[in-house]
Amino acid sequence: MRDVIVAGNWKMHTTPADAGDLARTIAARTHVSGVTRVICPPFVSLVAVRDALAETAPDVGVGAQNVHHELQGAYTGEISAPMLVGLATWVIVGHSERRRDAGETDELVGRKLGRAIDAGLRPILCVGERSAQREAGSQDAVVRRQLDGALRDHDAAALRAGGLVIAYEPVWAIGTGRNASGRDAAAMAAAIRDGLAGLGRGWDPDEVPILYGGSVTSANIAEFLAEPSIDGALVGGASLKPDEMAGIVARAGLTAAARGAAG
Ligand code: PEP
Repeated sequence: MRDVIVAGNWKMHTTPADAGDLARTIAARTHVSGVTRVICPPFVSLVAVRDALAETAPDVGVGAQNVHHELQGAYTGEISAPMLVGLATWVIVGHSERRRDAGETDELVGRKLGRAIDAGLRPILCVGERSAQREAGSQDAVVRRQLDGALRDHDAAALRAGGLVIAYEPVWAIGTGRNASGRDAAAMAAAIRDGLAGLGRGWDPDEVPILYGGSVTSANIAEFLAEPSIDGALVGGASLKPDEMAGIVARAGLTAAARGAAG
């Protein structure tokens, strides 16, 4: 059975002075059996969050929101995978805000993925179509192209061993309050798993957890987790609100319990 995962992407919110307290509060409010929890603060708050969770909730993962595609060098302001070791155990790659603002291509995202795996960081690879692409009905083709571009140069066994997670995040749903439907998310999860199978070379699509992300809240999480192909959520705005996270993770706990009972 695949893990049930709730990851919070804090984006460019919190400071080192307040991040530890927020992480501690969220961890205390989301202590639910069977759910893998991850908090992804800004780089500068990784230490504060790591230390706060080490005391009270060492089972909550700490993730970075990005990683550079090179190991070291003349890349002012960047952070490489080896620098994250000891601070984080997870990393988001290919978030649509970085594809949009930093011009990240599928090929570059693939290189980041490789750096993450080599450093022992568990990657959450984000894919998703823009609004016009969905209106044109090309969402499956877009996402499959993103997957192919990011994954084609990698060894499937290494990515599986590294715990690859894929987050389907339709761009039009991120931060807009306009979430996809559970049915659309499940249809995309099926397309993603078909795409993985199509890559050949030892992929077992049923092993790869797929999260939904895009305006997830405690009020709509059930719609996504009612779909057996969806294994959790990547949560942005709501991940800064302990009440919201408590509701989201509580619902994820029901899915984890049902999966556990089903064997
Ligand atoms: C995200 O940042 O990955 C995200 C899904 O944001 P939001 O939940 O705010 O739409």
